[in-house]
Amino acid sequence: MSVIKIAIMGAGLSGLSCAVTLERNGISPVIFEHRRTVGDRFVNGEILLSLLNRPIFDSLAYFSEQYGIYLHPTANIKKLVLHSEKNQAVIHGHLGFTNIRGRHEDSFEKQLARQVKSNIIYNSQYSYEQLLKDFTHVVLATGDAAYAIKIQDYRKDLTVHLRGATVTGNFDPYSAAAWLDNQLAPKGYGYFIPFSEKEANIVIAFPEYQENISLDINKLWENFFYKTCEDHQQNLKITDNFEISGYIIGICKYPRIGNTFFTGNCFGSIMPFLGFGQFAAILTGIYAAYDLCGLGKYEKLTIPLRKSYDNSLSLRRSMEKLSNPKMDILVKRLNGTLGNKLFNSKHYNPLKLVSRLLKPLTI
Ligand SMILES: Cc1cc2nc3c(=O)[nH]c(=O)nc-3n(C[C@H](O)[C@H](O)[C@H](O)COP(=O)(O)OP(=O)(O)OC[C@H]3O[C@@H](n4cnc5c(N)ncnc54)[C@H](O)[C@@H]3O)c2cc1C
Repeated sequence: MSVIKIAIMGAGLSGLSCAVTLERNGISPVIFEHRRTVGDRFVNGEILLSLLNRPIFDSLAYFSEQYGIYLHPTANIKKLVLHSEKNQAVIHGHLGFTNIRGRHEDSFEKQLARQVKSNIIYNSQYSYEQLLKDFTHVVLATGDAAYAIKIQDYRKDLTVHLRGATVTGNFDPYSAAAWLDNQLAPKGYGYFIPFSEKEANIVIAFPEYQENISLDINKLWENFFYKTCEDHQQNLKITDNFEISGYIIGICKYPRIGNTFFTGNCFGSIMPFLGFGQFAAILTGIYAAYDLCGLGKYEKLTIPLRKSYDNSLSLRRSMEKLSNPKMDILVKRLNGTLGNKLFNSKHYNPLKLVSRLLKPLTI
């Protein structure tokens, strides 16, 4: 009888979701993690915005009911403020969740690790090629596209520069904010995500296009920091900061090649529009496990994620064409009934509606 031996490379969102699902179906993988423990990196607040995951409205309820993966957020988001240079839209409702990543005890990866029983080998120096020799199947879940680019026809659509900080102040943990302002983040965005009443992340992210290469990042950062302090009417204090360059957004051509599965960012889970990837990362981990357990075909299961990726890329390309005055018009339109309907309705295909709103502005 042939014995299936599965190695998961990376104990992050997709790798651990894959492991939990395999275990539920009676298979124990071996997980190889490069760091000395799960989530051993900077702490940051992230977001699951329900608008972007339709037709699923509540992603955390979906994960628990459909797949037995239990994650608790930092808070549900009741209010989202979208800022353009001159306008703002205030959206209310059940908009999604904030959650923590990294070293924090309640980070999503640590929550997932507590649900995993399989062996995790830390400080792993194993290469993909080595794992392939010792295991029948390898799940690539390393959180970056390096192997996907090396092994297959990976389509890199853009790279992004991110600069962020943890700030302390007094915050409403149920309220997040985003800035769509080319002066603060050209063709990108800034955001504010609280992860307690006292701590939040502020981040700017912009594409590393030729025209952005010569930007003075320190100046952009100063402006953004000043703006967030002003909007919150507080002198925020920076307690930690991070900077990431060359963050790849793209998608692999083949989610599975032979007995290798590409999950999470190795698959292409980061949606180009706002850089969100958690939802798709967890799903790809689950889907790879389904294939390994004979419950579905990974290639087929990931088709909707591929479509979402392409829609999100078109949306980004349209947004990139907007000047600040046009962004002001868009944000003004989103303030009030339209914005609330868009973010809260379970029936709309919201991204289609946003594309329709954008069309006249991009001509
Ligand atoms: C600053 C920032 C903010 C973000 N904000 C959001 C947000 O608000 N909402 C959202 O939905 N998404 C957000 N994302 C994207 C989201 O975090 C990722 O899409 C998601 O974590 C990808 O999951 P993954 O499983 O692919 O990788 P990860 O969860 O990053 O896990 C990868 C794991 O692999 C390990 N590893 C790496 N190399 C090796 C190796 N050679 N051998 C073994 N192990 C290895 C790593 O140490 C890590 O533990 C953000 C990303 C960044 C960088």
